[in-house]
Amino acid sequence: MRIFDLHADIGWDILHKEEQGCNDALQNEHLPKLEAGEIQGVCIASFFDGSEDWQQMQKMVETSRRQISELLPDITWIKSQADLNDDNKIKLLMSVEGMCGIVDDVEAKIQWLYDQGVRVASLCWNEKNALANGVKGDVCQGLSDSGKLVIKKMEELGMVIDVSHANEKTFWDIVEIAKGPIIATHSNARRLCGHDRNLTDQQLKAIKAKGGIVGLNAARHFISDHDDQQDVAHLGAHGRYIADLIGCEHVAIGFDFMDFIPDHDNAMGKGLASAACAQNLVEALKAQGLDEKQCQMIAYDNAIALLRRVLR
Ligand SMILES: [Zn+2]
Repeated sequence: MRIFDLHADIGWDILHKEEQGCNDALQNEHLPKLEAGEIQGVCIASFFDGSEDWQQMQKMVETSRRQISELLPDITWIKSQADLNDDNKIKLLMSVEGMCGIVDDVEAKIQWLYDQGVRVASLCWNEKNALANGVKGDVCQGLSDSGKLVIKKMEELGMVIDVSHANEKTFWDIVEIAKGPIIATHSNARRLCGHDRNLTDQQLKAIKAKGGIVGLNAARHFISDHDDQQDVAHLGAHGRYIADLIGCEHVAIGFDFMDFIPDHDNAMGKGLASAACAQNLVEALKAQGLDEKQCQMIAYDNAIALLRRVLR
């Protein structure tokens, strides 16, 4: 069954591989695994942990843009609604996780990201930055005035707002000011696993109310608080829980595979080691009683429908 993965730190990886002299990691390391897992669409995230400045942000985004453009015309590079209609090739979309490098000239810098091809972005990773507070930021602070400008500019351009690393104050600030859908690219249900990156029932309902989607995260600490339950079957249970709470049309997938990140050998849930194992989640959703059509919505169709609504 075809899958759209809303979050993979591939942008981070291909820059680091380039710095080690490998200039084709996207093509030769990532695409084969995506194909093996029938992942036919993926957000290639440039990931920033809060330490990077604007030049470093630009460098990673430019590297993703270059490696993606070198694969044309064998892939579809999603930048507009029309690009979503091409069903024959793998779909790649540029995303940004964290905007710590943006401290001034906010609107011009969002425009620059857009011009490079970025269409999905979160304002912060776990940290507090000039725009927003992540889950490790100040619990009393959410979006700054600059962060509010970012939301406005992203919506003007038709960019998808990702709330996945936002703390609760930032989350609710975004819910209040965003006019269109918001998404959580890679977060599970807090009710089933207490990780602070997972979403409360109220947050899940707010995402539904805004017409957004939530991507199921395959990292083991996001699946269960119990070591022996950090597996694909229990991730399937998150899918079922969220679908029952807010509707199947609001559930999607954002695996956050980390098999290519150094020292993260033990980061993923059992049965979810890399993109090549992606179909195991489809089987786990079926085992939860979701039918073929519901599984296809979660695996792929809901992500495409969301992009169709937000992109220009
Ligand atoms: Zn993340």
